[in-house]
Amino acid sequence: MSAAIHNHGSSLKPAYPRAIVLSLASDFGCQLQLSNIADLLDVLGTIKLEYWQLMSSAVLPADYDIAIIEGAVTTQDHIELLQQVRTVAQTIIAIGSCAITGGVPALAAQDLGKHVQAVYSDDADRVAAGRVRPAPISNYVAVDYLVAGCPIDPREFVTVLQGALLGVRQRQQREPLCAQCKTMEAPCFYSIRAAQDIADGMATPQALCLGLVTRTGCGALCITRGRPCTGCRGIAADANLSSARTFIANEGLDVDDFDDALRIYSSHALDDGGEEQ
Ligand code: SF4
Ligand code: SF4
Repeated sequence: MSAAIHNHGSSLKPAYPRAIVLSLASDFGCQLQLSNIADLLDVLGTIKLEYWQLMSSAVLPADYDIAIIEGAVTTQDHIELLQQVRTVAQTIIAIGSCAITGGVPALAAQDLGKHVQAVYSDDADRVAAGRVRPAPISNYVAVDYLVAGCPIDPREFVTVLQGALLGVRQRQQREPLCAQCKTMEAPCFYSIRAAQDIADGMATPQALCLGLVTRTGCGALCITRGRPCTGCRGIAADANLSSARTFIANEGLDVDDFDDALRIYSSHALDDGGEEQ
């Protein structure tokens, strides 16, 4: 999977760049995280927030510098909106798995017509007119910066925004989470399982840890709190899926379970041959 971040590499010109926050298909969870930024006032001191979809019913302004976009593309209207935003905004920051990988909305891509029919029955064509296969926003427009996660970490958002304001090119973290997890000195779930097997003399139920192939950068947040990684940041650019599947099989685990678990956030990459950023 290859990188697809398109930094313009120049700092934003106005003293207070004008920003908008938009949502496509999502549950607004990442926008909610923005409202949880402890130093939000500091951030707002560096940008002029012209439009925030979650917070007001104002109309999208005609001109702005930064577009912060949450959510997957699921309709033709989304595509047209994105294309319009790309012609206006100097910088697009994609936030959250839905925007970056297609996330949970992309789970509906397979048999989309059947899903729509099941929900809307005879009214499906009218209610879901203009639908398209759920996809990440990079399928339609170039993205300059991204903040991964489901939901995003507000602190990471602030760091990325500050980089965008300075015109600093975002370095894509290509490697899977395992390396970072090791530096946190968290015991690996697979080692724990092997130790338990020896102690119990029998196989123990195993929660799959998807850190094997997941984009790094979260600080092994879940693992250091005793939970396996669910892959919320999407598949790492340098992930070796084939080796990971072999490892899972050698562990006596079900490779289909591994792929199904990965699909929750990365079905677009796995099933549509899509590339994540
Ligand atoms: S598989 Fe999971 S627990 Fe083990 S090293 Fe990788 S990220 Fe950490
Ligand atoms: S450990 Fe995995 S699931 Fe948890 S925040 Fe990191 S990438 Fe997401």
